[in-house]
Amino acid sequence: MNTAPTSQLDAIAALEDAGLRITGQRRQVIAAIQRRKGGFTAEELATELEGVGRATVYRTLKLLVGADVICKIVLPDGTPMYSPSRVEHHHHSVCTSCGAVEEFRDITVERVLRSLAREIDGDIIGHRMEFYIRCGACLAAAND
Ligand SMILES: [Zn+2]
Ligand SMILES: [Zn+2]
Ligand SMILES: [Zn+2]
Repeated sequence: MNTAPTSQLDAIAALEDAGLRITGQRRQVIAAIQRRKGGFTAEELATELEGVGRATVYRTLKLLVGADVICKIVLPDGTPMYSPSRVEHHHHSVCTSCGAVEEFRDITVERVLRSLAREIDGDIIGHRMEFYIRCGACLAAAND
């Protein structure tokens, strides 16, 4: 279930809508994200972007998450990973071997979660769900 990654212009527009200045460095971070397929860590991105300060990479990622341009996914060991987002509500599967991220949306899952929410005292403001997987490519490589 692949979705087209957000275009660079969309990402920049979203940041501008959020009232943020698009500096050359932020532009470089966005371009690097767009070149990537699937998930990545902040550290990987910072290593790739030699000319951009680490703090700028981390700050820009945070801004992009806030603007719904990228998703933050937490691995089982607590490591945060990022991937380009489609804006509407969705969930992720992430391969813990290679970091491949897929997004999915399932109406049955949402219905179940909504009915569970009735058992919870308080206003539900959101939920997250991630499947941790070994992806098809990694399984195939392991079987070679
Ligand atoms: Zn996502
Ligand atoms: Zn994999
Ligand atoms: Zn959901």
